[in-house]
Amino acid sequence: MEYVVSDILLSDEVIHRRVKELAKQISKDYAGKELVTIGILKGAVIFLSDLIRYIDQDVDVVMDFMAVSSYGDSTKTSGIVKITKDIDINIRGKNVLIVEDIVDSGLTLSYLIRMMGEREPESIRVCVLLDKEERRKVPVNVDYKGFDIPDKFVVGYGLDYAGKWRNLPSIHMVDIYMNSPEEG
Ligand code: 5GP
Repeated sequence: MEYVVSDILLSDEVIHRRVKELAKQISKDYAGKELVTIGILKGAVIFLSDLIRYIDQDVDVVMDFMAVSSYGDSTKTSGIVKITKDIDINIRGKNVLIVEDIVDSGLTLSYLIRMMGEREPESIRVCVLLDKEERRKVPVNVDYKGFDIPDKFVVGYGLDYAGKWRNLPSIHMVDIYMNSPEEG
């Protein structure tokens, strides 16, 4: 099977406009407060770094990261969520914002919300750039959402396939060929 980057689903311009809007809402909701943003590696890195630069200065933004594995190199979820890198910060009594690239089955986020909740933060909210709502297996409460997207595998703006294409400025769909595209 071969994967080839296909049409643009969301252009970089459209993404940035929406990220700014999300940041504006977050700025309003956390004005004068400290906010611990937890980016889920590696897919959320580009989204989170753009997002926090649009958040107003009167929000005291702290940035940390967590790495989980559930996908490997395949496009299908295994349903198993394992923490491969934990955050460095103690979030007890803090306002936490989990920032994720995409919510699909919801298994990753529902696990993370539960796990973080056990650490007794003041609050936990969730911000995702993309939502494939029709694929949901477990419910997830998303507080800040960039876009609803169809059930298509996407890459770019931090999202990869087998470690590639994170650097594409826009979000693209991926075409899957049983043989190489030249062979049809
Ligand atoms: P969930 O646990 O909600 O099923 O999966 C969330 C994770 O699956 C995301 O963090 C992301 O790593 C991966 N994922 C789901 N859909 C896509 C997709 O279309 N493209 C990419 N690159 N990753 C995806």
